Amino acid sequence: MNNINIENKLTREDLLSQVKKSKHYPLIVLDDVIAFPRIVLPLLLKKQASVNALEQAMHQNRLVVITAKKPIKQENKKQIKQKQEELVSLDQVYDTGTICHISQMLRMPDSQVKTIIQGVERVKIKDLLQTKPFPIVNTDIIPSIFKDSQIIQALMRSVLSQFKECLSFGKLVPLDIMVAVFNIHDPNQVVDLIAYNLDLKLEEKQEILKTIELKERLEKLSKFLAKEIELLKTGQKIKKETSKELGKASKEVFLREQLRTIEKELGIKGGRNEIKDLKGKIKQAKMPDHVQKIAIKELSRMEKMPSFSPEVGYIRTYLEWLIDLPWNIKTDGKPVKIKNAQKVLDEDHFGLEKPKERILEYLAVQKMVGKIRGPILCFAGPPGTGKTSIGKSIARALNRKFYRMSLGGIHDEAEIRGHRRTYVGSLPGRIIQGIKTSGTKNPVFMLDEIDKIGKDFRGDPSSALLEALDPEQNFEFADHYLEVPFDLSDVMFITTANILDTIPHALRDRMEVIRFPGYIAQEKLNIARKYLLPKLLKEHGLKKKYFELKNKALKNIIQDYTREAGVRNLERELAKIIRKITRKIAEDKKKRYEIKISDLKKYLGPPGYRLLLTEKQDEVGVSTGLAWTEAGGEILFIESTRMPGKGKLLLTGSLGDVMQESAQAAFSYAKSRAKNLKIKEPFWEKEDLHVHVPSGAIPKDGPSAGIAIASSIISCLTRCAVRHDLAMTGEITLRGQVMEIGGVKEKVLAAYRAGAKTVLLPKHNKKNMDDIPKEVRSSLKFIFVEHMDEVLKHVLVKGKECTAK
Ligand code: ADP
Repeated sequence: MNNINIENKLTREDLLSQVKKSKHYPLIVLDDVIAFPRIVLPLLLKKQASVNALEQAMHQNRLVVITAKKPIKQENKKQIKQKQEELVSLDQVYDTGTICHISQMLRMPDSQVKTIIQGVERVKIKDLLQTKPFPIVNTDIIPSIFKDSQIIQALMRSVLSQFKECLSFGKLVPLDIMVAVFNIHDPNQVVDLIAYNLDLKLEEKQEILKTIELKERLEKLSKFLAKEIELLKTGQKIKKETSKELGKASKEVFLREQLRTIEKELGIKGGRNEIKDLKGKIKQAKMPDHVQKIAIKELSRMEKMPSFSPEVGYIRTYLEWLIDLPWNIKTDGKPVKIKNAQKVLDEDHFGLEKPKERILEYLAVQKMVGKIRGPILCFAGPPGTGKTSIGKSIARALNRKFYRMSLGGIHDEAEIRGHRRTYVGSLPGRIIQGIKTSGTKNPVFMLDEIDKIGKDFRGDPSSALLEALDPEQNFEFADHYLEVPFDLSDVMFITTANILDTIPHALRDRMEVIRFPGYIAQEKLNIARKYLLPKLLKEHGLKKKYFELKNKALKNIIQDYTREAGVRNLERELAKIIRKITRKIAEDKKKRYEIKISDLKKYLGPPGYRLLLTEKQDEVGVSTGLAWTEAGGEILFIESTRMPGKGKLLLTGSLGDVMQESAQAAFSYAKSRAKNLKIKEPFWEKEDLHVHVPSGAIPKDGPSAGIAIASSIISCLTRCAVRHDLAMTGEITLRGQVMEIGGVKEKVLAAYRAGAKTVLLPKHNKKNMDDIPKEVRSSLKFIFVEHMDEVLKHVLVKGKECTAK
C-alpha cells in the first residue's frame, strides 16, 4: 500500500501566491459537497478520474480545482445515468469552484483515497482542457476583496445573531467552528464558514459560493439563516407537541412504573396486586349495593395515591372494615322451638324460674313476629347471679353467636358510634367492632354494666346506645367511621345492670327489667353441686371419682367463706380447692380426696366472713339495717354515739346524699320526739351526735336505711340497746311514717344469710313476700310496720339504763 501522508504547513499568503502562478489545474467534481475557500474538507474519493486528478496534483503543486456537479433534473435522470461518471462538458458542473490545497492523502486498499484538502480561493472555470485520464480546466482566480462598510458590519452582526439563534434552537455545530465563527473578523471567511456548516441544499451553498459581492453574499446568507431558524423553530414545536402528546399517554404508565420501583426499593407492601385483591374481596363481601359503590370509589381513590402516603393506610383499613363486616351473614335462622329453648335454659341453669319464664315469653313473641320487637331486655341483679351465663344459653338455644361487651366507664359517644375518619387512628365504635368479631349480623349481643355508663363533655353515649338498641331505628345504625348505615335489626341485644337507679332515663324507659335477685344458701348448694363443681372438674381434667366435697363442707364454704348474692366467689373458692387437689393428684397419684369441714382451713385459709348476727349482742346505739348495694342485698351496722358539742350531726362512712338526708330526717324526728321518748335534757344544746356506718370504703346510698338510722340514734339517746338479731329496712318521714322500699327480696336474703331472726319491713312491702323463697319465709319472723313508734317497740331492749321504758 502506498500511503502518502504529507503535512504541509504553508501560510495563506504562500498558497495565494502559488495559486496565481498557473491557470490550468486538474479538476475534481464532487456530487454533494461544495468546497469553500479557507475551509478544511475531508474527502473520500472513489471515482478513478478524481483519484487520477489528485495524484497528478500531488506530483505538481498539490493544487486542484474542486466544483460540484449540477443536480440532474428528474426527467433526464435515466438518460444521463451511464454518462454520469464521466465529465464530457462543463455544462454538467457549476462554473464557480474553489481551488484547494491537498494537505493529506491516504490510499485505501480498495483503490479509494482519503484526503484532506483546504480551500484557498474561488475560481471561475472557463474551459475544459482535457477529460481523460482526469479533467484539466482553465480557470480565473476570483480574489476575495471587500470594503469594510457600516452596511457590511450591520449585516455581519445580523448574520451572527441569526447564527446564535440557530444554536439556541438546538442547531448542532462542532465546538471549534462555533468558536471560530465568533472570533474571526474577516466577513468573507465567516460567511463561508457559516454557509458550509449550515444544512443548506447544494444549490444554496453554491449560490453563496458563486456570489462574489460580499454584501450580496451576506444578504443571501441572512435569508438562508432566517429560513433555517424557521425550520428549527417548527422542528422544536413539533418535538414539543409530540412529546406532550406522548407525555400525556405515557406519563401515567411511566410514573406508575417508577412508583412501583420506589415501593419495591422501600419494601412497601401493596401496589397493584393489592388493589386487585381488595377489589375481589369487596365483590365477595356481599355488601349492599350502595355500600359496594362507596367501597369501589374509595378503592379507586386509593389506587391514585402513592402507597407511602399515610392516607392509603387509612383507606386500606376502612376497606378492610367494610369487607370484614358480616353484611349478610347470619347463623341459621330456623324458627325457635320454645320447648327446646326451655330445655337449654334448664340444662345450663338451676332455679331462676322467673327470668327463664320471661325470656321464653320474649322468644315466643319473637317467633310469632318473625323479628326482634318489643322492649330491650335488661337483666338486673348482683354479680354472679347468672346474667351473663343465661345470655350465653339464649344464644345456644337460638343457635346464634354470643358477644359480650362491657359498657363500664364509657363516657364518650364516639366509643359507641366510632370516630369520624378524619381523625388519625379512628376506628368504628364498639357496637360495630362487636358485630365484626361475632362474624354474623344476628348475634346475641350482651351489653354489660349499662348502669356504669357515664356522660360528659364528649357527648352522651346513652343516646348513641339507644339508637343501636331501639328496634325502631337500629335497622340503619349510623357509625361515624363507617359512614354507611349498618342494619342491627337482627341483633338480639340484652343489657345487664347491677342497679337500676343509675341507668340513663331514656334507656331505662325502653327496657324491660328482669331481676336476678340472688340465691339463698340452698340454691347455691344446688348450683355448686350440679353446675359449678362438674364444670370445674372438667376444666381441671379431674374425674368425679377423684374428688368429693362433703355437703357440710360445701355449706360451710357458702356460709363462712363467701358473703354474696351470686355465686362468683363461691366458684372462685371451689376452683381454689380443685386446683390444689389437681396438683396433689398430679404429684403423688393418690386416687381420691375427700374434703371435710376440717380440711377447709388447709385449702382456703381462715374463713373470711364469720359475721353472723346470732353471734353478736344487743348494744346501745348499734342497729342492723338492710341496704341494696351493687353486690345485692347487704346488712349494714349503724353506729351512733354522743359527745360534748352543740347539737351537730356528724355523718361518716361514705354515705351518699340520699342516705345523709335520711339520717338528717331521722335526727330531726328523734329531736321532735325527745319528750315522748323520755330523752333527758335537750341534748342538742350540749352534745353532738355522730352516726357512722362501718365498711367506709363501700359507697352506700338510698333511703331504705331510714328506720335503722333512727333506731340507732334513738337507742343512743335513750340508752336502750337494739336487738342484735333483728334487721330492718324502711324509709322514714319527719313525722315518723315508715315508707315502702324496693329490693325486698335481695334485702331479706341478705338478712337471712347474716343469720337474722326477725326482719322489720314497711307495711306496704307485704305484697313482695311472694318473691321470698319458702325456706326463707319459714325460718324468719317478719314484722310489718307503719310508724317509727312501732319500730322502736320491736327494736329497743328495755335494759336498766333505758329511759324509754
Ligand atoms: P353475672 O353475669 O350475673 O355477673 P355470671 O353469669 O358470670 O354472673 O355467673 C357466674 C357463674 O355462676 C357462672 O359460671 C355461671 O354459670 C354460674 N351460675 C350463676 N347462676 C347459676 C345458675 N342458676 N345455675 C347454674 N350456674 C349458675
